[in-house]
Amino acid sequence: MAAQASNSADVIIVGAGPAGSTAAYYLALAGLDVLLLEKTSFPREKVCGDGLTPRAARELELLGLPIRPEDGWRKNKGLRLIGGGHRLELPWPELSTFPDYGLVRTREGFDEALARHAQAAGAKLQERTYVTAPIVDDVSGRIVGVRAAAADDKGRRVGEEQPVYAPLVLACDGISARMALALGIEKRDDRPLGVAVRTYFESPRHDDDWLESWVELRAKDADDGSRGGVLPGYGWVFGVGDGTSNVGLGILNSSKQFGKVDYRQVLRDWTASMPAEWQFDPEHQRGPIRGAALPMAFNRTPHYRDGIMLAGDSGGMVNPFNGEGIAYAMQAARIAADVIAQAHTRRGVANKERVLNEYPRAVKAELGSYYTLGRGFVSVIGRPALMQIGVKYGMALPTLMRFIVKLLANLTEDPRRPDRDAYDRVIHALTFLTPATDNQ
Ligand SMILES: Cc1cc2nc3c(=O)[nH]c(=O)nc-3n(C[C@H](O)[C@H](O)[C@H](O)COP(=O)(O)OP(=O)(O)OC[C@H]3O[C@@H](n4cnc5c(N)ncnc54)[C@H](O)[C@@H]3O)c2cc1C
Repeated sequence: MAAQASNSADVIIVGAGPAGSTAAYYLALAGLDVLLLEKTSFPREKVCGDGLTPRAARELELLGLPIRPEDGWRKNKGLRLIGGGHRLELPWPELSTFPDYGLVRTREGFDEALARHAQAAGAKLQERTYVTAPIVDDVSGRIVGVRAAAADDKGRRVGEEQPVYAPLVLACDGISARMALALGIEKRDDRPLGVAVRTYFESPRHDDDWLESWVELRAKDADDGSRGGVLPGYGWVFGVGDGTSNVGLGILNSSKQFGKVDYRQVLRDWTASMPAEWQFDPEHQRGPIRGAALPMAFNRTPHYRDGIMLAGDSGGMVNPFNGEGIAYAMQAARIAADVIAQAHTRRGVANKERVLNEYPRAVKAELGSYYTLGRGFVSVIGRPALMQIGVKYGMALPTLMRFIVKLLANLTEDPRRPDRDAYDRVIHALTFLTPATDNQ
């Protein structure tokens, strides 16, 4: 651990990804003593598509983080969808509640920019600090801190554990969910899960100003005779603007092929079928194909219990419609910070606890119905025949696709606005009629 390591704070945040750094920023701004513990040191790579929709751009605007092109931020105009023999360019919708641009930024730069922003606001960031477990008070059963040890430059634990105390721990430790697991908060099998893999290629397409999605991914038949076919998911080509494109794919667990398909091979086959001049070939590949799971639709709950709160991937908050996780990690972190700052002002454990219990209710109110709808979507596209019909006929109808993009990217007008369009009204009606089932 860093030499001047603190051993207590008002809040300990485990993990300085998008969720952790966002929460740290807001909490520091609210005047709390915030300790942000991160096992790696910045800058560091994180496996990701590096694509940000207007939802994430909005969170960055709320944080007041400068997004200058010279710092590596690349704006995009909308989504280009390719599939079923069609190619559609659909600009991001113009809405009062979201900007009309998305962004691409490598996670190497993105995560460091967010962490430094939190630090500048007053959060104490301790890099190379591996959190091993929460500390639970024997008498009250509440979490009263964490054990942490020094880590090496790969984020692996190397030092002796030391206790660090705080009345609240915000677990933003990503897909590993180490804090939650230590407390027996397991992954829910009734929620969808995705897997995504990606790599970079040096490519003339690096300065594309659209986020490109290929909605018809196919796996070849396997040597053992098992059938490949259409996969529930999509491939992406995102121009990073630094000479490379981030090329990858994400697949949902709702099809029979899940777990049986070699996703890296699907990526190799798919990129090999692309025009040669794009240079998505081994000679121009920069770095290995890397992948990770996408925990979706609140696949780990409860999001608050006895002094520990989960935000981002640790709470399974990836959007099941499109695999986007950054915006939701940041949104949940903003809500968590608001609740924690409120609780901090209350006197007495019971009063604080009442406020802290608002967090799961608040994330459920914001996202629960939409995620329940998403679970239905996941099971529908898990049937190859339906997926194929959807792509074949849907892609031929730009008006329908504009609606689909709004639904998939969760980009609608404020429901209270009378001037919202017909698409927004349908999506609001669907989410209104869909219960946020037992999300907690
Ligand atoms: C291949 C792939 C492509 C993706 N593409 C996109 C995309 O284009 N757009 C998008 O919005 N989302 C995408 N996602 C999802 C997105 O990456 C995640 O949803 C997002 O990173 C979640 O943020 P987080 O802060 O919750 O967790 P993370 O970003 O995982 O951050 C967790 C942090 O905690 C630290 N940590 C973990 N354990 C400990 C510990 N014990 N002690 C101390 N520190 C710890 C980690 O080092 C890390 O810094 C993609 C995911 C994958 C796998």
